[in-house]
This record gives sequence, C-alpha cells and structure tokens, in this order.
Amino acid sequence: MGLSLYNTLTRQVEPFRPLEPPRVTLYSCGPTVWNYAHIGNFRTFLFVDLLRRWLDASGYEVYHIMNLTDVDDRIIKESSRRGLTVDRLVTPFITAFYEDRDYLRIRPAHDYPRATGFIGPMVRLVEGLLAAGVAYRGEDGSVYYSIAKFPEYGRLSRLDRSQLKAGASGRVSTDEYDKEHAQDFVLWKAARAEDETAGAAWDAPFGRGRPGWHLECSAMALELIGRRFGARTLDIHTGGVDLIFPHHEDEIAQSCAFTGEPAFARVWLHGEFLSVKGTKMSKRFGNITTARDLREDGVDAGAIRLLVYQTHYRQKLDLTDQALAAAQEGARRLGAFSRRLEQAGTLPTGEPPPPGPGESLELARAAARMEADFTAALDDDLNGPRAVAAVFEFVSAGNRLLDEGHRPGAVVLDVWRKADQVLAATTRAEVRVLGVPTDSHAAIASTASAETPSSDQPHHQEPPSSLPPDGPEAQDAWATAWAARRLAAKSRRDFGEADRIRDLLRSHGWEVRDRRDGAVEVTRR
Ligand SMILES: [Zn+2]
Repeated sequence: MGLSLYNTLTRQVEPFRPLEPPRVTLYSCGPTVWNYAHIGNFRTFLFVDLLRRWLDASGYEVYHIMNLTDVDDRIIKESSRRGLTVDRLVTPFITAFYEDRDYLRIRPAHDYPRATGFIGPMVRLVEGLLAAGVAYRGEDGSVYYSIAKFPEYGRLSRLDRSQLKAGASGRVSTDEYDKEHAQDFVLWKAARAEDETAGAAWDAPFGRGRPGWHLECSAMALELIGRRFGARTLDIHTGGVDLIFPHHEDEIAQSCAFTGEPAFARVWLHGEFLSVKGTKMSKRFGNITTARDLREDGVDAGAIRLLVYQTHYRQKLDLTDQALAAAQEGARRLGAFSRRLEQAGTLPTGEPPPPGPGESLELARAAARMEADFTAALDDDLNGPRAVAAVFEFVSAGNRLLDEGHRPGAVVLDVWRKADQVLAATTRAEVRVLGVPTDSHAAIASTASAETPSSDQPHHQEPPSSLPPDGPEAQDAWATAWAARRLAAKSRRDFGEADRIRDLLRSHGWEVRDRRDGAVEVTRR
C-alpha cells in the first residue's frame, strides 16, 4: 500500500510519490527566533517529527530543511525596542530553540538555514522576478509581486480571484495580512532608519533594503535543493495551518514564477493548532506556554509526544492538566513495559538469546499484529491516535504474556524498538523525585514511581556504597539514597558535599536536577 498524505493543495488524501525515490526533500517553516517558541509551534514541529521519523523508518532518504526566520517585521520591532542588533536579539533564542528541540526528542533537520545567511539567493530571486515581469518597484522604493501576473495565485488557499486587489491601489508592505487583504505583496523592503540601526539592511541592484518574510523560505528552499540535487521542486512542504495564507500562497507564487516549474512543492501538509485554554494548568504552573516551562516543571518529553500524537495532526488539540497527567502515566507505562521486555529478552551476558524453543510464539503474534496496525495507521495520513492505540494494545497483551512467563525473541524486540523509535514517547528511565520536607506539595512527586523519603533522613546513617550495586532495582534504590543525602546536605547548606554527591551520581550515569519547586530529580541517563 505505502504512505498516503492529505495534500492541502488538492484537499485529498493521496498516495505519496516522491520525485526521485528514495530521496525525499522536505522543507518545514521553522520558528521566528525573536522569542521562545510557543508550545503551539512545537506541536507543529512534533507533527513534522512524526512525518520525518515515519519517512526514515519507511526507508526513504530524507533531506530535511527547517529555516530560522531571523529577520522580519516583528524581529526588527523587537530589536528596536530593546536597542539590540537583530543578530544580538536572535542568537540566544536560536540556542534555546535547539535545546527545546532536543528536550522534545525532535530529530534534527539536516539544515537550519538562517534568512540573513541567504541574502544573495534572495536578491537573485527578486532580480529574476523583476526580469520575468511579475515584480515591480513601487514609488516607496520597495519591490512588490504582482499577483495579477500569476494565474495560479490563490489555488492553495482557495481564494476567490475576483476579489483580488492588484497594482498600486492594492498593495501590502507588512509581512502579515489576512485573506480579505489579498493583494500585491512585498518582496524587498526599502531600508528605513530602524533597519539600519538593527543591522538589517543590505545592498541590492534594486535598492538597499531587506527581504520580505515570504521571500525568505522560497529563496532558501530553492537554493539548498538546487545546490544539493539540482532540484527545483520540493517533495513535501510543511507548516501550521495559519501559514496557508498568505505565507505559503506567496511562496508558491514567487517560486513557480522564478523556476517555471508547475509546483514549488508537490505535497503541502498543515498541522492544526494547539490551545492551552480552559485549564487549571495556568494556575498551577504559572501559565505554561513554552516548551521550557514544561521542562522546568519536570514534564517528561515522552508524555508531551504521546499527548500530541494521540490527536490527529489535522485536528485541534487542547492541552489540559488532565490530558497531560494521563499522558505522563501513559508514557511511564510504555517505559516500564519497554524495560521489562528488554530484560526478558536479554541474557545475563547482555546478548540476545538465540531463537529457540524458549521464545514465545504468542508474543511474536501479538507483535506482528501491532506492527501491521501501526504501519497501516501511519501510512494512512499519519494517523497517530490509531498508531498509539496499536502500541498500547501490544503493551497490555505483552504484559499479560510476560506475567505468564513468555519470553520475547529477537524479532519481537526489533518490532518493539522500531515502533518506539517512531513515537519516542516512552519515559526512558524511572525518574525519582525527592521532595523537600518544608513543602508538602513538592514532597509528593509527579511520577508514579517516585519515592519520597524525607530529606531529613538522619545524616549519621551509614552512607550508601560509592559503587552502585548490581541489578536495575538495587541501582535505583542506591541512586535514590544518594540523592536523599544530597537533599539533606543542601538543606544544611553543605554545598561541597551536595556537589560531591551530584558528581558521584553523574559518574555512574545518573542525571541530577534541582527543580524550581525545590525538589531533586534523579534520572538514569
Ligand atoms: Zn516559510
């Protein structure tokens, strides 16, 4: 059967056929790096990650580009407000974006082009459009795209062409506008004083200025796939639904008029919004809006992934306290099962057992069923909810069979690991959270496996051995005991001892993290 995807261009689920299989060129509109990316942005990036991981798992050779918008109206405005150059403003937010991406286990793109690094290709694109007669220079010194010259304009967003306003009477110079104001849009903005101050103005044959936002993606995508493969058309282009108009409509107009190709991207995929409204979450955590808020509050990335994938990417998702708590429990269950399955399928030497009579046919059958359902679900326009359901069915059946003493063979482990690599939604290690005795709320930790020994554990007790014992459970207890001593050391302000304990735990593969609420988290790396 193979993969089918819902193409916004045709409003249909279509079989996916890349231009040059097995290569897939994938372009994703990335963040505007003037602030921390909102968790709503990350829902879109997580949908793209599911697509990316499923293409990888299906044997495609994906070349994935995600741009970083580091110059546009909002960035210039914010730079001026804070008295910074554009570069100074965006650099820390780019670092933060990569950190958030890694926290959310999003597979890195192959290229993260920054708009300011591609001014040359942007200038060439505008020159090409001027030469083709689809762009013109306005009396304000900016260069505009004449939508009347591109008959396909409005196809992606199903725009009523009779309503279009073209020419000098209908012209928009801002990056963002709505469908009611579809008109000639700006490609290159004549430099103003505040652009110069922000270090965001460049020389061009058609006048000093800076690129319009829509131009950036066309120029970077065409430049990169051109350089690498000599290609002029993308296989897939992704973004949030809010980008269909005007951003993607304008990208198509610019790119196709420049290349003369019938399409800029053959398939357009759009992810729906995530909202954080109507929840108690904002009260409890102080308005969670960014990925780092979730991280600071000790939310496991697996839980966020599970939560996002349990709703189809084309449906709205409301992030609630309850849904997040349920997802945390789900991710924990997946993690616990994963460890149990791996342990049952591994000999004491660490080697997988040879196939043989000990191996369970029933487990193999359950795994095969999961693999078939999981594949069918994701091949059907990335149906995350069905894929997740298939995995949980296997977890239930698998736990029952493991209880009965069944043992997984190499094939079962392989099937499980493949699904696990696509969703990446397991809690990877049991997180132990140790609370502080002065705060009864913080003392009750957020994970089901948490143990909460009080941190005023008598210091005179014998310290645990400095070497971890054998066996995962004994090791967990060992790390927990050391973490409790670290908490006690901190509360009596013995920071030297607290640091020494943290280093000891780290040297044996444990991560130690102090949370904002005063609790200590110990996680096996
Ligand atoms: Zn874009």
